Amino acid sequence: MIYCCEEHVEIAIDTIVDDFETFPLLNKIEDEKLSTPCEYCQKRAIYMVANE
Ligand SMILES: [Zn+2]
Repeated sequence: MIYCCEEHVEIAIDTIVDDFETFPLLNKIEDEKLSTPCEYCQKRAIYMVANE
């Protein structure tokens, strides 16, 4: 599972596809209080990309 910002969502999807050979589930993080950072930069994550 990868948390990422708007900018890095395509990289996150590619990573999941490469690692698990399956198209990931893309969930938008609606809860503003969750301040999980992006995997690739320090911005707040907007999406959670899951491998199932
Ligand atoms: Zn980012």
